[in-house]
Amino acid sequence: MARLILLGAPGAGKGTQAKALATLVQIPHISTGDILRAAVAQKTPLGVEAQSYMEQGNLVPDDLVIALIKERLSQADAQNGWILDGFPRNESQAAFLDKLLEEIDQAYRYAVNLEVPDDVLVQRMLGRGRADDTEDVIRQRLQVYHNQTAPLIDFYRVRHKLVSLDGNIPPEAVLDKLKSLF
Ligand code: AMP
Repeated sequence: MARLILLGAPGAGKGTQAKALATLVQIPHISTGDILRAAVAQKTPLGVEAQSYMEQGNLVPDDLVIALIKERLSQADAQNGWILDGFPRNESQAAFLDKLLEEIDQAYRYAVNLEVPDDVLVQRMLGRGRADDTEDVIRQRLQVYHNQTAPLIDFYRVRHKLVSLDGNIPPEAVLDKLKSLF
């Protein structure tokens, strides 16, 4: 059963890699960022609540994201595997995920950390032109990453689930390494 968690800073290439891998392996790519952006665009209650956090580069409150991921992982297409991109983002989300997966009798194989230096991340984000990719917001998102998300590297290391990959090489080369994990 193929289940993978992609860790890494904003701009590390999680979305690109998760999309390509999901197509290859034929399992869903689950991106909380994509789901939240769709909710914002559709002005659903979740989107209305999440929008200001996203625009400022902050994390959307855990209860909203946790409800969203719980619902998504219960859907039929997620029963045969998945690639998580952008969740978990802090220790309480990671602890929640471990508990949930135990309850629903699923287990992930690895949490993969894509390592990319900060200056490269900033250049990549400035280049992709997403609504939340302005310079101030990028700076805030990187700070949130270092404060809240980077500690997950140790969270998964102590559980013997961590794989670290150099994300500062051509995307096709990163994909080759990810493929070898399946
Ligand atoms: P991403 O596309 O993963 O970079 O996410 C874009 C934005 O959505 C983030 O900057 C957060 O505001 C929000 N977001 C995505 N995933 C999460 C999460 N797991 N927890 C909290 N906020 C999230």
